[in-house]
Amino acid sequence: MKKITTLPRLHGGRPPGKIVLVARNHAVAAAFFMLMAPAVLHAAPTVAVGHNDREAATPAFKFENIPSPAINDAASKATFTIIDGARNPKGGNVDKLHDGKMPVANDQRPENFSFNNGTKRGRLLVDLRSAIEIKQVNTYSWHPGPCARQVYTLYASDGAAPGFDPRPKNGIDPETRGWKRIAQVDTRAQSGKGGTQHGVSISDTGGSIGRYRYLLFEILPSSQTDASAQTFFSEIDVIDTRTPIKFVQNTIPKGARETFKTDDGVYSFTFDTTQAPEMTEWVRAKVLPVIKEWYPKLVRILPNKGPEAPKNIVFVYKKIQKAGVPAYASGRVITLNAHMGANPGGAVVHEMTHLVQRYGKVRKTNPNAIYPPGWLVEGMADYVRFYLYEPQTGAANIGPKRADKVNYNGSYRVTANFLNWASLKYDRALVPKIHIECSLNNYTEDLWKKLTGRTLQELNAEWKADLAK
Ligand SMILES: [Zn+2]
Repeated sequence: MKKITTLPRLHGGRPPGKIVLVARNHAVAAAFFMLMAPAVLHAAPTVAVGHNDREAATPAFKFENIPSPAINDAASKATFTIIDGARNPKGGNVDKLHDGKMPVANDQRPENFSFNNGTKRGRLLVDLRSAIEIKQVNTYSWHPGPCARQVYTLYASDGAAPGFDPRPKNGIDPETRGWKRIAQVDTRAQSGKGGTQHGVSISDTGGSIGRYRYLLFEILPSSQTDASAQTFFSEIDVIDTRTPIKFVQNTIPKGARETFKTDDGVYSFTFDTTQAPEMTEWVRAKVLPVIKEWYPKLVRILPNKGPEAPKNIVFVYKKIQKAGVPAYASGRVITLNAHMGANPGGAVVHEMTHLVQRYGKVRKTNPNAIYPPGWLVEGMADYVRFYLYEPQTGAANIGPKRADKVNYNGSYRVTANFLNWASLKYDRALVPKIHIECSLNNYTEDLWKKLTGRTLQELNAEWKADLAK
């Protein structure tokens, strides 16, 4: 986006928009002052940009040249609404922008608001509920890559202009609907292309940007060529001219290794977040309840006739470098990718199913044991996840168009869909029955015929025909 030259884009210090009177006639000067005299002097808004690289980027969001985030600013009580574009569903909602809480790490999507990938232009409305003298508008973002950069235009209005439109959609110039353009922000231009923390402070040397009730942010992707680069906005602050500001006190959380037991004392779960300290609170609050409920449940649903399911499980959170790997299970340890935090239970339930399956142990006692095929093991874990734990997501659904492209052994969600179909059609307890045979080392393909009266091939054809309907 090209910068608009009529709006000064100055860093801190320099006094912008300074009014210089070149008037020989004092009467003219006096008349000018009388015109300008009432209320606060609104000179030209200035945009200051702060940038914290690596070590400087801490949860306190301390910048050299702009204020840190506030907890008691006017935005904390305002209403935030998307008026064009859609939010990224994996990120936080608009309330993350004014909750006074900052992310504690550089890639915490759920703690930030961003527009959905591909959004070319998004518009966000802030309603302060009444007009106030605004001293500053401050915006903060944090990401290791391009999603740290902020590119937006800020408009403001007191809502009093005739024909004022509080929700001008994309394509409508807000200045034709009772809005005033305040500032244009592009932190790529002002602090380089690097990631980590970007902070913006829009202010005015006159002390006030103006008296406004509404703010409109027109937000663009942070890359001109890649619309998937959407800014991770952590907080938007609106500072009025009167309230003494309290700053966010954010400190780096300590990781923990702590053990919790189920209420009956049968199972214990150890969480290790020493490699992902920012997850500690979230794990306690969101993940622990899921595990306490679901691990004993899984043991009941899939009873082992062979090796017993482990009673003490360790969950290790760390940043798995390999992209797209949510988790893996080995022995009684489940390793979870700290990058994939939005869904507390999905990956955990899948991996806990593997602990209950324990088919690998059979071979230790019986060297001739036949492993159940990988597609079945993974399909059962996804069956438990998508049909028992989170059926509301519909994430393993298969539409008619894909019916001729899938087969029972497609593994993961595809096999999960097949198992669900066969369970509903032939035997509600089909998966537990297959599991028991697997845990006894009795799995062979004949099992399908024994349990359903159909061969695996016959079931496959029938399932695909039903999918196509
Ligand atoms: Zn798996």
